[in-house]
Amino acid sequence: MSIADNLNNIKASLPTDITLVAVSKTKPVSDLQEAYQAGQRIFGENKIQEMAEKYEVLPKDIQWHMIGHVQRNKVKYMAPFVSLIHGVDSFKLLEEIDKQAKKNNRIIPCLLQMFIAKEDTKFGLDNQELIEILESEAFKQLRNIEIHGLMGMATFTDDQEIVRQEFTALKQTFDSIKEKYCALSSLKLTTISMGMSNDYTLAIECGSTMVRIGSSIFGHRNY
Ligand SMILES: *Cc1c(COP(=O)(O)O)cnc(C)c1O
Repeated sequence: MSIADNLNNIKASLPTDITLVAVSKTKPVSDLQEAYQAGQRIFGENKIQEMAEKYEVLPKDIQWHMIGHVQRNKVKYMAPFVSLIHGVDSFKLLEEIDKQAKKNNRIIPCLLQMFIAKEDTKFGLDNQELIEILESEAFKQLRNIEIHGLMGMATFTDDQEIVRQEFTALKQTFDSIKEKYCALSSLKLTTISMGMSNDYTLAIECGSTMVRIGSSIFGHRNY
């Protein structure tokens, strides 16, 4: 099966209100071009330098999503063009994104990454840390970021019940902050980014609005 076939099959299986991020990390530009020609416009990368290199050579109507862990000192390389940063997991990072967005005279949409898995290898905030950020005065001063929602990664396991519980917990957190903080102007809560190749159907059942799919489109990655 070609990349275009894979993409079309996945798109056909997604409800129309679900946004598909094609995760193209480690893949050559030619693979992204094939997906682009099949109509895909949103690509996800997890390394800033790789994303910037691909941005340079590919069509400018692509929306670039940073889905990986972000180092503060590298934010400046993507600030001119990134369209959504999924992995924001600290206030310091948010401050740096705000600063670089300001330099570029723009507002950068972000998702706060929540720690939902039962593994200690994954990044993210717990509910307490999330609330501390949203309620802090310093957060209210940021003018060049917008929080569009939450992102999470479930435990890597075959146990569907565990994955379901984790996705459901993320959806509940989203619903509660949406209700509680609706007056904050920098919150535009529309997006729950959860679900990858192995678990996106379950993620959608649990309330995902944005899925990040790599290997089911582009094939397995060789690191
Ligand atoms: C690599 C990656 C994905 C895509 O994973 P697949 O299993 O290939 O679909 C999704 N989200 C994040 C954060 C990733 O790093």
